[in-house]
Amino acid sequence: MSFLTGKKVVVMGVANKRSIAWGCAQALKEQGAEVIYTYQNERMKKPLERLLEENEYTVECDVANDESIAKAFETIKDYAGEIHGVVHAVAYANKDDLSGDILNISRDGYALAQDISSYSLIAVTKYAKPLLAENAGIVTLTYLGSERAVPNYNMMGIAKAALESSVRYLAAELSPQKIRVNAISAGAIKTLAVTGVKDYQKLIQLSEDRTPDHVGVTIEEVGNTCAFLISPLSSGIIGEVIFVDKGVHLS
Ligand code: NAD
Repeated sequence: MSFLTGKKVVVMGVANKRSIAWGCAQALKEQGAEVIYTYQNERMKKPLERLLEENEYTVECDVANDESIAKAFETIKDYAGEIHGVVHAVAYANKDDLSGDILNISRDGYALAQDISSYSLIAVTKYAKPLLAENAGIVTLTYLGSERAVPNYNMMGIAKAALESSVRYLAAELSPQKIRVNAISAGAIKTLAVTGVKDYQKLIQLSEDRTPDHVGVTIEEVGNTCAFLISPLSSGIIGEVIFVDKGVHLS
């Protein structure tokens, strides 16, 4: 018996087949959910649609823009009525702020990364809330660089720290309304976003070296945890950051 049969889940952040969001979408579908995909802009629409089956639903949503988020969830409401979960797998920082010295991060670069990578979870939750069914789950993606000074992860580490804190505050606020908010701290995986980090190959190599079999975590493994966290099977988990990194965070 699949544990998400009949559920509708919004997945934000599929850029291509390597995206963590894609691993989440596949796992959600394997458990019987219908996935509603959002894409950042017109440029991202075609590559997403090429991955999907004909009848799958997509909506534009630029998380840097409140109007776009509001419109996206209105459209989703018209289409789906209620939804049972949201996967927030989006982040962005200027390439310059993912290398070199923290002291060189500009005020604008800091604000941009925080806006898209952290504040967006609050904004998305706000507009998704009226559509969320009882016992719905919200899941976001973070990385160990939020709590350790990982070389070159720099600005994104700072944004992820804020994101994880937002998860706890949102979870405390929304859990009485039976909406659970959690984060997955994924191990390093070669995706489009990670290639923005200077010497990202070292980041991935380091992660792989620290796993028991020297094979890094996969988007399928992250996706399976995401499906569990969206589902009522994880009803006791609220405001948590769960490592899905094959033990990299232990050493
Ligand atoms: P990805 O490049 O496949 O996905 C990033 C997505 O963010 C893209 O789909 C992009 O369109 C979207 N995005 C950026 N700005 C946006 C905006 N303004 N509006 C809407 N969407 C926007 O990379 P990924 O690694 O799958 O990233 C997904 C999440 O996982 C991110 O939060 C990332 O920080 C996190 N994460 C990644 C790793 C890793 O090693 N790849 C590890 C831990 C956490």
